Amino acid sequence: MLHLCHHSEKLAIALGLINTAPGTPLRIRKNLWVCEDCHTYAKFISKIVGRAIMVRDANRFHDFENGVCSFLHGLLVMLV
Ligand SMILES: [Zn+2]
Ligand SMILES: [Zn+2]
Repeated sequence: MLHLCHHSEKLAIALGLINTAPGTPLRIRKNLWVCEDCHTYAKFISKIVGRAIMVRDANRFHDFENGVCSFLHGLLVMLV
C-alpha cells in the first residue's frame, strides 16, 4: 500500500504542545494529507492533554477535541 505520510504530524503536534501555553488551542499546518495513523494519534493526544488541536492540510481542516475530530471526512477514509 502506498503511504506517503512520514508521520511528521506527530512530531509537529508534540513540538507544538511544548512550545505553546497549556490550555490554548494548538494550530498546525501541513502540506500533506493527515494519514489515518496520525489522525488517531491527534485524537488521542487531544484527550490526554485536554487541548484542542487544529490540523489544516492541503484540502481540509481537522479540529480535534476531547478525543474526537469534528470534521466529516468520509472522503479521507476512502483515500487513505
Ligand atoms: Zn502519519
Ligand atoms: Zn479529522
